[in-house]
Amino acid sequence: MYINLSDLKDIGACKHVVLDFEFNDFKYQDREIGINKPLHLDVDIFNTKDSFQLSGNLKGELILECSRCLEKYNSELNLKIEEEVLKEEMEDADELHLADIIRDNILLSLPIKTLCFADCKGICPYCGQNLNRGDCDCEVKQVDPRLAKLKDFFDTE
Ligand SMILES: [Zn+2]
Ligand SMILES: [Zn+2]
Repeated sequence: MYINLSDLKDIGACKHVVLDFEFNDFKYQDREIGINKPLHLDVDIFNTKDSFQLSGNLKGELILECSRCLEKYNSELNLKIEEEVLKEEMEDADELHLADIIRDNILLSLPIKTLCFADCKGICPYCGQNLNRGDCDCEVKQVDPRLAKLKDFFDTE
């Protein structure tokens, strides 16, 4: 996936690019980043002497995994894009490849702790029940040892 720059040969020239494109889900350090729908890129590209500068924004919707309850949730993506791509690092000066730029910007935008909502209760460490959907019985089963003796006493009655 790239933007054709063959019409942006003059230094100082600029062009406005608006692009909707599919982007594959990807993994990063065991985190799954899902892309829910086509991404929308709206950027100005400037030809400086040594580089192309991109300035604009990227919109879309991600599917992330909550770090507490492990459920997937949708997260709106709305990023400012400010990038400089050095000409000497481009394989072809007419092709501005986007995949790495898009991927890096999405990764930088992710919160350190992904949460489906701020007060997510997470899952019960004993039974795995998602506590956002209701309480489990585990706390009731965790009987105080002193009471347990009493319970044995009554059970034998
Ligand atoms: Zn959650
Ligand atoms: Zn439980």
